[in-house]
Amino acid sequence: MNARRLGLFGGTFDPPHLGHVAALRDAWGSGRFDEIMVTVAGDPYLKSADGALTPAPQRLAMAKAAFGELPGVAVSDMEIARGGPTYTIDTVRELLETGAEIELIIGADVVSQLPRWRSADELATIVALYVLPRGDEMVTIPSGWRGQVAHMEPVDLSSTETRAKLEKGENPAGLVPESVIPLLTRAPH
Ligand code: ATP
Repeated sequence: MNARRLGLFGGTFDPPHLGHVAALRDAWGSGRFDEIMVTVAGDPYLKSADGALTPAPQRLAMAKAAFGELPGVAVSDMEIARGGPTYTIDTVRELLETGAEIELIIGADVVSQLPRWRSADELATIVALYVLPRGDEMVTIPSGWRGQVAHMEPVDLSSTETRAKLEKGENPAGLVPESVIPLLTRAPH
């Protein structure tokens, strides 16, 4: 029997937005995966120094509301439950034990961060990448990694921009899934 093909979509999701939803729909629609797992980072150490971060339980609740009903997608709290800084290598090691084959689903902005990830060299040997375009820049698979670039039309939205627009009073319906709107209690900072 072939191994279960698992797409791993990790993030901070502060908040989840329609760009994430488009990414997940594209990834599932690609037919590459038997399941997509969204993991909500407990302590995204590359981001948490940047400013106030919405507490993990609230980000998890928003991610479940945003993605829980999407076809093929499950939302996991494993990175929150593990505690400590969130390293993708730990998540991948845990999931490989289930016998799955793993592809990391990442936005193009993450490609340049990969060398800073813990155990990046090992990670490159045990997972493939499925990279989603963001913005107009040409996306390529970095050397030393295996993977594919998605053919999706880029969606110009980020959590940072979403927070900024919400703080300015923009209608949340154009930014986040409907189901997330009642959970948007983050105080502006
Ligand atoms: P920030 O504004 O802090 O950079 P973000 O919008 O990138 O946040 P994250 O939770 O950090 O949100 O992202 C989780 C994953 O989703 C990352 O791999 C990121 O590249 C990807 N992603 C986020 N927004 C998009 C988008 N509009 N299109 C494709 N991928 C996206």
